[in-house]
Amino acid sequence: MYWNKDIETISRKDLEALQLKKLHKALQATSTTPFYKKVFEENHINIDAIKTLEHIKDLPFTSKNDLRLSYPDGMVAVPRKEIVRMHASSGTTGKSTVIFYTAKDIKDWADLVARCMVATGATPDDVFQNMMGYGLFTGGLGLHYGAELLGCMVIPAASGNTLRQIQLMQDFETTIIHITPSYCLHLVEVIRAEGIDPYAMTVKKAYLGAEPYSEATRKKIEEQFGIDAYNSYGLSEMNGPGVAFECTYKNGMHIWEDYYIVEIINPDTGEVLPPGEEGELVLTHINREAMPIIRYRTRDLTRLIPEPCPCGRTHYRIDRIKGRTDDMLIVSGVNVFPSQIETVLMKFPEVGNNYQIILDRENNLDRMHIKVELYSKLFHGDIKEIERIKNRLKEALKALITINPRIELLEPGSLPPSEGKAKRVIDNRTL
Ligand code: AMP
Ligand code: ZN
Repeated sequence: MYWNKDIETISRKDLEALQLKKLHKALQATSTTPFYKKVFEENHINIDAIKTLEHIKDLPFTSKNDLRLSYPDGMVAVPRKEIVRMHASSGTTGKSTVIFYTAKDIKDWADLVARCMVATGATPDDVFQNMMGYGLFTGGLGLHYGAELLGCMVIPAASGNTLRQIQLMQDFETTIIHITPSYCLHLVEVIRAEGIDPYAMTVKKAYLGAEPYSEATRKKIEEQFGIDAYNSYGLSEMNGPGVAFECTYKNGMHIWEDYYIVEIINPDTGEVLPPGEEGELVLTHINREAMPIIRYRTRDLTRLIPEPCPCGRTHYRIDRIKGRTDDMLIVSGVNVFPSQIETVLMKFPEVGNNYQIILDRENNLDRMHIKVELYSKLFHGDIKEIERIKNRLKEALKALITINPRIELLEPGSLPPSEGKAKRVIDNRTL
């Protein structure tokens, strides 16, 4: 079953011709933006010299930092009045990475998500309960619009409030859930604790994404819940969810090449690797009006699977994400850079030089624990004072990273002194 058979089963030759045509259009659009205008000038890029898809390697990469530097609209290619929506990458406030969409971009995104859902066997008869965060995060609204376009009944439940989620699932006979893998493990545990048999529920499928997880976790979820779990990959810079999705064969995620030009590079040298080799995923969005992005370094490690899929779709697949090439952590679905935490900590004169971020998974939920040494000259051991500092730190961190860490203040010299490269993050979570 296909959503758009012609495009999903297009021959590789026609697909590549289409990509080249769309790439030219995207390059024309990008070259009008302040950011790319400057970058193309500085790198002496002549977009008319891009005659084949291979020439894309002559174009410079775009990084998350470039998006931050061009905040708020240095990469926007359309007049302000044509923009109908914005989203921002999860986890940051202030100068985060902001993505803009025209009405056509929103429609195209929904179309792509509907395509993903149909690839898993979803139909208008399905009841789709969306347990991803709504708001600036793309996970909620992204799937929402696609599921509605497909014709499912959508329950915009958002994340959290597990008992209410279960109630909704029972009362409205939910058949598909969209959820992070860690929350799904928690959900199934609560279902059991409530005395409900997950196998007797109407849920058939789960779309799992937004954070890395292993094949073993997928199996565990499928067995505990009695459902099929599909891997879903996306990132806000490339719209959000819907970039790559598993079909019913669950053997890697089809990455929709009429929207994205896919490259795998060596993260150290930037060199493009041949199909099948593992490296960093680089994506060029060739189907967005408001904000086309060229050669975006996702920092996600994977490999391309060029072998044909038995489902008949000709778009290549990518393998499960193996990890990242930077130090970005994903905690409860929120992207967190240790440097952000450090910036907050170091704004407090009471804080000393050493700290540690410890991540654990308790009852399948992520927990962050931050150990912070106090500055010796300001440390008087006054309990009330310590409580006050703790609360202020907690508030400042919550405002920045939207998660609630446990803070432990320590006497100066309590943490192991760093020898060479400091080990600031201890991640005890098993995927
Ligand atoms: P955001 O832009 O906030 O949506 O975060 C996007 C990032 O989430 C990606 O670059 C990946 O690192 C991560 N991510 C999303 N989906 C998956 C997935 N299915 N498996 C592993 N990591 C994922
Ligand atoms: Zn397939």
